[in-house]
Amino acid sequence: MGSKMSEKKRHAVLIPFPAQGHINPFLHLANLLHSSYGFHITFINTHFNHQRLIRSGHPSLTAGHPSFRFESIPDGLPPSDPESGQFMPDLISSIPINFPSPFLRLLENLNSPVSGVPPISCIVCDGMMTFALDAAGGLEVPGITFWTASACGFMAYFHFDALARRGLAPLKGEVSEELLDIPIDWIPGMKQIRVRDMPSFHRPTDPGDIVFNYIGREARRAAKATAIIVNTLEELERPILDAMATDLLLPPVYAVGPISLLSCLSQSPIKRSVPTVLLEDGDCLPWLNGRKQGSVLYVNFGSIVMLSELELEEFAWGLAGSCCDFLWVIRRDLVTDSTAVVPVQFALETKERGLVVSWCDQERILAHPAVGGFLTHSGWNSTVESIAAGVPMICWPFLAEQMTNCKYVCSEWGVGVEIGSNVKREEVAVMVREVMRGEKGKEMRKKAGEWKIKLEDAASTEGGSSFVNMQNAVKHVILP
Ligand code: UDP
Repeated sequence: MGSKMSEKKRHAVLIPFPAQGHINPFLHLANLLHSSYGFHITFINTHFNHQRLIRSGHPSLTAGHPSFRFESIPDGLPPSDPESGQFMPDLISSIPINFPSPFLRLLENLNSPVSGVPPISCIVCDGMMTFALDAAGGLEVPGITFWTASACGFMAYFHFDALARRGLAPLKGEVSEELLDIPIDWIPGMKQIRVRDMPSFHRPTDPGDIVFNYIGREARRAAKATAIIVNTLEELERPILDAMATDLLLPPVYAVGPISLLSCLSQSPIKRSVPTVLLEDGDCLPWLNGRKQGSVLYVNFGSIVMLSELELEEFAWGLAGSCCDFLWVIRRDLVTDSTAVVPVQFALETKERGLVVSWCDQERILAHPAVGGFLTHSGWNSTVESIAAGVPMICWPFLAEQMTNCKYVCSEWGVGVEIGSNVKREEVAVMVREVMRGEKGKEMRKKAGEWKIKLEDAASTEGGSSFVNMQNAVKHVILP
């Protein structure tokens, strides 16, 4: 991979948005910069997530590594249950107020002559934490934005203000199907998009203006970065990446995804599959080992989505009605306002062919030969991990750019089908059967297999697009 630096060690400070779906790709990027490019790494989490990572028992965090260090800063929020995620609007309100000062203090300490670490040579911040770009400017080092989600998601957020100017956001009151079906043909690089495919934060059912304004502004602030790294690959999102480069007046954009594939080629000091903030449930792999190839539907709605009790029940009875094997990850906080438990009768009826766990190592599960389909919320990491494993998806996008990802998964890449937002058990059962055993499933599996190869090629050290882009980003921007 990239050349190790023999002279003075360079020091990259990385700061992800404080949520699992951002921390994962950031850890992969940190691995890569450390192992393949010889950087000293400071990885900054919030105290809340740092404690959760330690509780999850990951050895690299407790043992540490001399040139790969974790630091943490407060998030300014009242203490909350470490078994549950944090409410996004609360975090988003807190970031601009409470994060910059402790972050700057930490940078000062790192740069002090007695710190024992090399002086900071670049800051890599999340695309939703761009306050850190100002700090990079203050230190006169490159400030790189790492956009951990899809390029289509970025493009959509970037145009939130245009959506507002056209009276399409934020939406208020009752939203009609006609309104959601209005075509949007004015976003560069995106075709056949409708209002319903835009990230959900402009809908009245979502947290609303705070998140809407914050994310739109953050996406546009990417213009202040020295460069933008995106966790996607050229082959998947070329028209949008081209439009980002030519229409938006942005700094150089490097598509380096899936970053997990690039990072797993490196000799990492932390394990190939990065630590997660919740403890894995150990039962999955032995259970999967006993199942037939491609027979298991894997169900997981990520780390943030919250269902109503009714939705949980509809999914449960839909899975029961499908008569397919399933592995279902139900986080303790998956259901709003109560502990998530499946109906007793459902558990009894499906105990021979279903397993419910609270958290798993998703990349390993998706890579298991017994897994033949993925019922997902269309979070970007889950989407890319599924494609990388050649597994077709049933998409139930819930919030944020999951809507946009779902649109591309189903209409552009041909590797998924969408399930109605108002989930009904009958529809779940039919769709699961179709994807696991039907013709549609076969077609999507074939397509997913083709994409899997393209993803592997992109990460290949033999001139793969993502591999080369990463090298160029390091050579031209991170290490100028
Ligand atoms: N994840 C995991 N185990 C689980 C659920 C999720 O390891 O049981 C990981 C998953 O592999 C992915 C991330 O958590 O990397 C979730 O990110 P995504 O963007 O899919 O969704 P989010 O949680 O941000 O909604």
